[in-house]
Amino acid sequence: MTDRRSTADDPIVGIDLGTTNSLVAYCDEAGPRILRDESGRTLLPSIARLGGGAEPAVVGHLARESAGRDPERTVHSIKRLMGRSLEDVRREVDRLPYPVVAGPRGLACVRDGTAIRTPQEISALYLRRLREIAERSLGRPVHRAVVTVPAYFDDAQRQATRDAGRLAGLEVVRIVNEPTAASLAYGLGRASAGGTIAVYDLGGGTFDVSILRIVEGATDGDEAIFQVLATAGDTHLGGDDLDAAIAAAITARIDRGRAEFHADSILARQRLRLASEAAKIALSAAESTLVEVDLPSGRIAEVLTRAELEAIARPLVARTIEHCRRSARDAGIEPREVDAAVLVGGSTRIPLVRREVEQFFGRAPYVALDPDEVVALGAAVQAAVIAGRRADLLLLDVVPLSLGLETAGGGVAKLVVRNSTIPARATEQFSTQVDGQRHVRLHVVQGERELVSDCRSLATFELRDLPPMPAGIPRIEVEFLVDANGVLGVAAVEARTGIRAAVQVVPSYGLTAEEVARIERESLAHAREDMRRHRVIDLRVNAALDAKWTGEALGRVRDRLEPAYVASLEERLAEVRRFVDLATREVDGVDADAFGAARDALNRASMRLHEVAIAESLRGSPGPGPGPGA
Ligand code: ADP
Ligand code: MG
Repeated sequence: MTDRRSTADDPIVGIDLGTTNSLVAYCDEAGPRILRDESGRTLLPSIARLGGGAEPAVVGHLARESAGRDPERTVHSIKRLMGRSLEDVRREVDRLPYPVVAGPRGLACVRDGTAIRTPQEISALYLRRLREIAERSLGRPVHRAVVTVPAYFDDAQRQATRDAGRLAGLEVVRIVNEPTAASLAYGLGRASAGGTIAVYDLGGGTFDVSILRIVEGATDGDEAIFQVLATAGDTHLGGDDLDAAIAAAITARIDRGRAEFHADSILARQRLRLASEAAKIALSAAESTLVEVDLPSGRIAEVLTRAELEAIARPLVARTIEHCRRSARDAGIEPREVDAAVLVGGSTRIPLVRREVEQFFGRAPYVALDPDEVVALGAAVQAAVIAGRRADLLLLDVVPLSLGLETAGGGVAKLVVRNSTIPARATEQFSTQVDGQRHVRLHVVQGERELVSDCRSLATFELRDLPPMPAGIPRIEVEFLVDANGVLGVAAVEARTGIRAAVQVVPSYGLTAEEVARIERESLAHAREDMRRHRVIDLRVNAALDAKWTGEALGRVRDRLEPAYVASLEERLAEVRRFVDLATREVDGVDADAFGAARDALNRASMRLHEVAIAESLRGSPGPGPGPGA
């Protein structure tokens, strides 16, 4: 396989996958530019109207237009759910008009008719649309992208973003923090003597402030390094919150005078939210405006002035300034020492925001670029650097290859994904696969491939002398910590007993650029096959457990079930066991889809069995209990 990096026919685009709006940009010799859709629009609303399984989803402007009519099917702010469990996002869920439910592993998902959609799938709808826009605009296929995320995104959220790219047919060659992208867009650091920059990003869903230092390259005169000195922010603070606060204020006002109006229907709430946002945007230019909502019970038209808006917005803006103060302190600088304050995000068009930022940093902020576009433009610049077209900029704050642990069956669980910014910290829970297992061996690996045998082994260590417990019961929490020097520490603790073990490894930053490139290329070339094999291995492990439990339950309550049901269940069980055997002998020949279908069929069929088995054990039969017996 040839090195795809050098071919101009395989462009890398830059994508700002926003909570509210998403954009795609490309950087060539003429510099970065936003790519436009057929109608010349730059912003793609990050909104999807789901089709309930019957029709395809509608994405972007069309979906946004229907939001007021069809709020329960119209998904917005999905970025807030990316890589989160339902527990993590309880607070948001109450505000979202569409149904959010627990999906696999408790992940927050969206119910779409009878189907469940993961946030990754929904984000992939936007990414696929952006990819289309880019392909049409550039006139060639697009397979690779640099995608930005808030600096506060943790590992799970970053990984979810990568997975969304994969679902959209895009290899995410790098995840870049939004503030870093913004400073790249301004070309800060090029032909300058270095300096300190504050990036203030107030979007729809998140607020971030980062203090960056640009250092001239030590040897090569024109090579600049972007160093993140400090970041602060709030993943629950943005224009959406302001819309909600305006809506609440209007509701309070109307409720006093008009008893027939109650903003408690989903439709009314959604329309009021949209009207509040429109009024807010109007007030960035005008001194007063109308909040207008059409409802079945009548029409609402309330005057809102800029002074009133500012009274509502002031506490939110004050919170952002508090974060600015903290990040300056963390960076060890006085606010007035920053050489530039860059404004990013649609909400920085609000005059109050500009005034407060100017006052805090003691200088007029940078606003030459459209605050909506800055991040995507910077992502495109970073893409050009990766493509080798811009050798004058370099980002040095990332983990070059993914770090992970071997899982049952020879798969790899990536904890710290490639290009995570350092210092990086990630935790994950594991358990045992065998009843009564006393020792757990942990194998730390590095690389992009899905199978341990294809990755580089860094270290192994053991958690020893656990008390015997049934498989799946021990809670082994593993923490990866990459410190600022690139040293990886791995610690594992069994939560119940407190038994712990740890190891220090120096990840191979000693790898040559060539080796890193080769590993990347291989992972690209093998990605599809790796994914299939990984799936087969996952299926093998999980289906074996399903078969074990089903077999045990069947053994206990067989005589309480109709013979025909037992026969069909046994047939499905045999089919799953056949696949497990096959996959144990040889991963390569197994049809993952057929295996998955057989496992699903068994699990559907065994639902009744498990109900009967549970009812039986509740009746107090002295069986071996819920866990598998020794
Ligand atoms: P995100 O990064 O979260 O996708 P954006 O940077 O696109 O968000 O900003 C979207 C937010 O900016 C929305 O809350 C929107 O209402 C707000 N916004 C856009 N234009 C203006 C404006 N002129 N005045 C005030 N707020 C605005
Ligand atoms: Mg943004």
